[in-house]
Amino acid sequence: MRFVSTRGKAPALGFSEAILAGLAPDGGLYVPETFPRILGTSGTLVDTAIAVLAPYLAGDPLAPSLKAIVESAFTFPAPLRWLGPTLGILELVHGPTAAFKDFGARFLAECVCRLPLPPNPVVLVATSGDTGGAVASAFHGRPGIDVVVLFPKGRVSPLQEHQLTCWGGNVRAFAVRGSFDDCQRLVKQAFSDRRLREKRTLLSANSISLGRLLPQQAYFAHAAMEWKARTGRAPGFVVPTGNLGNAVAALYAREMGFPIGKVAFALNENTTLLEYSQTGNYVPAPSLPTLANAMDVGAPSNIERLQHLFPDLKGLQAATEAVSSYDEALRKEIQSFSDRYAEAICPHTAAGFAAVPKLPPGDWIVAATAHAGKFREIVEPILGRPLSLPESLRALLQKPTECKEIGIRYDDLTAVLK
Ligand SMILES: *Cc1c(COP(=O)(O)O)cnc(C)c1O
Repeated sequence: MRFVSTRGKAPALGFSEAILAGLAPDGGLYVPETFPRILGTSGTLVDTAIAVLAPYLAGDPLAPSLKAIVESAFTFPAPLRWLGPTLGILELVHGPTAAFKDFGARFLAECVCRLPLPPNPVVLVATSGDTGGAVASAFHGRPGIDVVVLFPKGRVSPLQEHQLTCWGGNVRAFAVRGSFDDCQRLVKQAFSDRRLREKRTLLSANSISLGRLLPQQAYFAHAAMEWKARTGRAPGFVVPTGNLGNAVAALYAREMGFPIGKVAFALNENTTLLEYSQTGNYVPAPSLPTLANAMDVGAPSNIERLQHLFPDLKGLQAATEAVSSYDEALRKEIQSFSDRYAEAICPHTAAGFAAVPKLPPGDWIVAATAHAGKFREIVEPILGRPLSLPESLRALLQKPTECKEIGIRYDDLTAVLK
């Protein structure tokens, strides 16, 4: 399988080359040249992941290792639970950092570590919270690869900050005295700095990486087949959406022929995608802070993949829905979900459930994207009770942290990369 740039002006690459490249040289994102069709698979999530990914890796140097990669990456489940005859929840929160990003980050790390690496590799990532923790956890202790994580000082939750700064060894986290946009700008500048890249090989691990995107198809495919086997109907997925990495993976699984109805983007007050899906006009906006901070995105980084998949508005509207819910609705949903099911959900997952009544009737599975405990400063006061943390998070909280601050000048970043 070859991967082409969304802008069509870069040579096609194989899977390994595409993950080492990150962005295509024409500034576009790599997308599969065609979508393999799969009529069905059976077995465990790992079996499904292998079947889904095999055609994408066909002919690639990593192809013979696919089984080992998936088995090492997907070491925790993605249970589908039934909340009612037409409503389900797909729990993507059982990984080491309790967010869905563990699936993609761990798959990417397993791939990268099996490739012959150029000299002095460093994974450089900017995070608004969950990505950095998942990437740090996935790459921690890997010989020969450094990880540098930039996060905006004071703007991630205390638990997220702990999760970014507790690793040591080959992982260093820096609190940038600025916003997430400053962090992202520094990272982009580093990736376009030829002189720096002569000394250090920079590797990207943000959601534009195919090494994160493609494996995410597996849990959507697996859950869709399970739902179909039980009900005879194809479910839609409600995906709490920020940079569109997870939702595009669901749409890719749908392209592959898995029984998936529509994919609904559940949004917060950042409504760029809502307008886009209503009018076809893409108007990026500065991001607004909300309770669901991992979705505070005004210019989704995977938008070109969505546009490439659906070049016209009709096609987009036939396959997707978009619903946005403001903070007040998220608070209400956290409370009413707890009243109905005696369980806590995180603010992102709440955006998913808040969207359901506004969607066309049908079978919907909501993706739970993070464990509620990860956002306990928000969820506990709403529910008025303490939340228990999953074992993996409790273990992380025992580890001491170490964090340095840097400013927002590019020199501040190059000084730590040298
Ligand atoms: C990253 C994240 C999202 C948004 O996912 P995208 O792939 O960026 O659309 C939603 N919820 C949580 C908890 C996240 O960490």
